[in-house]
Amino acid sequence: MKIRVGHLYPDYLNIYADRGNIAVLTRRAAWRGHELEVRGLSMDDAVEPDAHDVLYVGGGQDREQGLVARNLVAKADSVHEAAARGVVIVAVCGGYQLLGRFYRLGADELPGVGLFPLHTVAGERRMIGDILLECELVPAERRTLAGFENHAGRTYLDAGAQPLGRVVSGFGNDGTSGYEGCRVGRAIGTYLHGPLLPRNPWLADWILAQALAHATGEEPPRFEPMADALEREAHAVAAARARARGGRF
Ligand code: GLN
Repeated sequence: MKIRVGHLYPDYLNIYADRGNIAVLTRRAAWRGHELEVRGLSMDDAVEPDAHDVLYVGGGQDREQGLVARNLVAKADSVHEAAARGVVIVAVCGGYQLLGRFYRLGADELPGVGLFPLHTVAGERRMIGDILLECELVPAERRTLAGFENHAGRTYLDAGAQPLGRVVSGFGNDGTSGYEGCRVGRAIGTYLHGPLLPRNPWLADWILAQALAHATGEEPPRFEPMADALEREAHAVAAARARARGGRF
């Protein structure tokens, strides 16, 4: 199968080489006989709701977020439409914040797409370090996500919103709630950089399976395990580093 990925603002939102996540998706798809077709979607490109199986947006600093925020909000209807049609949406850090309702920085406020039921307010202290989460994207399949976070924004989920995971070690959305990220159907947002997918191959597989489900209109496939001992070792090292760091502030 061909899996079509729209990569939003690759030229602006790519802090910590977040595009490395796309490289992981490309390889794991290829190892299973699928082709990932990646198209950059920047300022002058429309987001066509039925042209992609995955929409990906990386992280950026406040400055880059300021440059793209209004352009992205002008495409909000298309992003909502894509989500409603079951397109997988993956947003990291700055991109995650911009898919919420707004990101407030002192007297300034960047508007957001409003896909995720949350808002973000910049705080004084940055929340930096290794982070470990416990997630259950597939019911009764508990997994850990290991990554690295670096954000000044505190993200507040609306009551009843579903987080991506529970913080085991690290700060997460706001340093106090004990939750990280957000999930709405096939859309996930997270502060985990890293890149995220090289050390969490199970999440790469979840994204690919959901993307294939969108492409075929069928249930997500269950993949055979593959020889990814190195990736699992990277996960173990990152998870141990996060655990050693301990709690929060
Ligand atoms: N500018 C945002 C913050 O600091 C996001 C930073 C990032 O993408 N690392 O909260």
